[in-house]
Amino acid sequence: MNDSTITAVATPPGKGGIGIIKISGKDALSIAESIFVKKQRKNPSEKKDKKKSFSNKKPRFESHKLYLGNIINEKKGKNIDEVLLSVMKAPNSYTKEDVVEINAHSGQIALNEILKLIIEKGARLAKPGEFTKRAFINGRIDLTQAEAVIDIINARTEKSLEIANLQIDGRLKNRISLIRDSLINILAEINAGIDFPDEVGEGLNINEIKNQITNEAVKPLMELLENYKKGHVFKEGIKLVVAGKPNVGKSSLMNRLAKKERAIVTSVPGTTRDVIEEIININGIPAIISDTAGLHDSNDPIEILGIKKAYEHINVSDIVLFMIDASRKLTKEDYKIKKDFKYKEMIMVINKIDLVEDDFKVEIPEKWKRIKKVKISALYDKGIGELKKMIENAYTGDFGMNIQNTTIPNLRHKKEIEKCLEKTLRAKRGISKETPFEMIAIDIKEAMDSLEEIIGVSVKDEILDKIFNKFCIGK
Ligand code: GDP
Repeated sequence: MNDSTITAVATPPGKGGIGIIKISGKDALSIAESIFVKKQRKNPSEKKDKKKSFSNKKPRFESHKLYLGNIINEKKGKNIDEVLLSVMKAPNSYTKEDVVEINAHSGQIALNEILKLIIEKGARLAKPGEFTKRAFINGRIDLTQAEAVIDIINARTEKSLEIANLQIDGRLKNRISLIRDSLINILAEINAGIDFPDEVGEGLNINEIKNQITNEAVKPLMELLENYKKGHVFKEGIKLVVAGKPNVGKSSLMNRLAKKERAIVTSVPGTTRDVIEEIININGIPAIISDTAGLHDSNDPIEILGIKKAYEHINVSDIVLFMIDASRKLTKEDYKIKKDFKYKEMIMVINKIDLVEDDFKVEIPEKWKRIKKVKISALYDKGIGELKKMIENAYTGDFGMNIQNTTIPNLRHKKEIEKCLEKTLRAKRGISKETPFEMIAIDIKEAMDSLEEIIGVSVKDEILDKIFNKFCIGK
């Protein structure tokens, strides 16, 4: 258990209405008592003029109450700020420790003065995510729930927020715990076979154990992996890039998707020289979309640099929106772009359909026939919904995803689920091949270890550090 009392500013730096400082730990209350002076009316007869004065007595706090008062630096005899102070006594707090939150005015100087004072009184500055880490260590939440806190902070779309909220409710923890419980039962049966081979070994129902492994471990694990495949983009987002020769309408599409004028649109070819990024919402999937320099042969050194950057960007993207101009014939530049990125996931975006007949068909080579295509007019807002659906389907499958009934693991969970699946399948094969029970027990135990890493029953320190380092200070 933690001996130290930690403190941090929990609100982002800069000017704002309020700034919040948190203190958590065994000395949180005594520190608050030593720096806070409650405001109170001078005496009952002065009730009407509503004037307040400071009390000389040290405040005694009740849990889950809000107090109005001042933070005072006694040594300097100085009033630092008028604040609202709330107290949440252990174990009914975020960290399960005594917690004090000070709502001060959010000027950086005032907040720093208060923080310094709290540290002088014996607290130490919290590390990133340390409050949430304490909530985990003190057993209020499991590791998946702690990770969901980061997901909530980082959520960029309503869907990502919804997924994070389901995880904070413990949905993933419950599913993993259920599989783990089944593995514990299976291990118990196998161990009985090891310990009492004569009594139990003969009677051990091999088929029953195999069925149990399939139904209670393999199937749910595979379902979770499938959910990851379809749903991780809602959490982690995707990188889209619009690629095409100059003047096909890349910047116009960017603007259309971002629904605001961001990239510079111009009819002079080669104007978008650098990479411009926007974060957009594609039917709930957070996407970083980049508009790159038009790809073509150029002698202009600045343009060459822009094209080089564009290539780098396209190479690390998840989906390339390869844009062509419906009103013009394909040129060698279009062919080159298609060839250069033939291994990338691609959607061909046929732009400017407002300039051609309704029944127009793009003349494209036979070998491009299998590429997904969508006709749009970036300028006149046509086909954009279809394009968004196509991007969504590229990840979630044609049937979309019902978030409410789904548990979506993150990459860390996915890796452990894969390890767990590998071991359970090995155990099952072992049973079929009459491998000694001792070996099968080892596989089941290792499968359980992976699940325990996910929920944090037993988790390596470096994994914990990795997870909590992603947090900001003060959370
Ligand atoms: P980029 O060089 O590929 O980024 O192309 P821009 O977005 O700068 O567009 C080049 C020109 O094509 C501009 O004059 C746009 O207004 C025009 N344009 C873009 N999209 C469309 C469209 O859907 N229809 C028509 N008619 N013009 C478009």
